[in-house]
Amino acid sequence: MADFHLLTTDWYRQNKRDLPWRNTNDPYYIWLSEVILQQTRVAQGLSYYEKFVRNYPTLHSLASAEEQQVLKDWQGLGYYSRARNLHFAAKQIIKEYGGDFPSSFLELKNVKGIGNYTAAAIASFAFKEPVAVVDGNVYRVLSRCFDLSTPIDTTAGVKEFQELAQQLINPAYPDIHNQAIMEVGALVCTPKKPDCNVCPINSMCLAKQNKTIEYRPVKSKKTKVRQRYLHYLVEDSGHLHLTKRTEKDIWQNLFEFPLFESLNEKDFQLKHEELSNKSIYHSEFITHQLSHQKLNVIFYHMTEISHAFDNGEVFKIDIEQLSDYPVPKLIENYIERIINERK
Ligand code: SF4
Repeated sequence: MADFHLLTTDWYRQNKRDLPWRNTNDPYYIWLSEVILQQTRVAQGLSYYEKFVRNYPTLHSLASAEEQQVLKDWQGLGYYSRARNLHFAAKQIIKEYGGDFPSSFLELKNVKGIGNYTAAAIASFAFKEPVAVVDGNVYRVLSRCFDLSTPIDTTAGVKEFQELAQQLINPAYPDIHNQAIMEVGALVCTPKKPDCNVCPINSMCLAKQNKTIEYRPVKSKKTKVRQRYLHYLVEDSGHLHLTKRTEKDIWQNLFEFPLFESLNEKDFQLKHEELSNKSIYHSEFITHQLSHQKLNVIFYHMTEISHAFDNGEVFKIDIEQLSDYPVPKLIENYIERIINERK
């Protein structure tokens, strides 16, 4: 166990990436970085982290911002519930903790949107609490190093890996220890082609000895992908019609075009026939992949939009006003395409 800590932390001190959130002990900045980096590559998250630090340099500035502006700044990063929770939590910390960031793992978990992983990261990085972080990188490194076959997406697996990670932690350096394992997972023990030759723990790696690397970590279920069928209506007049998504669903509180949603592929085809007859132009069939959903989409250009829609009240804006409204990447890409085609 001590070997694991020494080998990973020595390697980390020499090989770690110089990332801005590693040069601070401020829990607010660490929290921002952790929320931004969930489900996001460092290369993509970096510019968003810099933008949030610039636009919201303090917890108070984030709490007093409008949610619509926070969502706009988040635009393109996906998983928008993270931005809504971030904004809500900033207000919660001011109201319930007088603006002082909670400083223990257990207290942090009372904050909206902060689960085990983020609480452990903030508690260990900012406050040196010896609590182990277990994210996707840690699951991969531990499952391979100790050749563990318990599926990581089961209650038993979560418990086993959490306990192992906690046994490995060095209470004197919980921050460096946690970051070191994650960095080994991010840079060396990668999902597809782990670079075992340069790995600091290759001498003790059981999956390497047992030739089971490609089977670790084990997952019990495949993520089910839900198919959705969307018909968006675009008024072709120099204006845009938008509507706000208010339901608890993807893209809550973001804006989009008026929409009809079909329940299945057959209805999608029927609705397509109806709408393509009424439209002056329609896009090709577009697919847009989200983590658990595949969106099948067609945009229809109409001279006038005057129907009732599936997605609530519609209002009209000039194209120049668009920068005031947070929209999903799918809509942003399509609007860019319309603008470019008209140049
Ligand atoms: S030796 Fe290879 S499989 Fe084992 S932890 Fe290192 S990179 Fe991963």
